Amino acid sequence: MGTMKGGATGEKKGKKPHVNKPTGKKYKHYVISGDSITRGKSCPRCGLGVFLANHKDRLSCGKCKYTEFVGK
Ligand SMILES: [Zn+2]
Repeated sequence: MGTMKGGATGEKKGKKPHVNKPTGKKYKHYVISGDSITRGKSCPRCGLGVFLANHKDRLSCGKCKYTEFVGK
């Protein structure tokens, strides 16, 4: 019988290190300059509060997949 190496397997495996994720990105959609607040475009389907994600050539809703193309 081979001698098994003294296993120091006290450490728990499979535990992923906690990654700090930014909570919510809604602040990105608000630009407050002085007294006026410029809001990002909100989804016509989901209503106000649901903003469209800004892409290079389009805006899209992450909730209902509504996409609006932005032409030049
Ligand atoms: Zn939507």
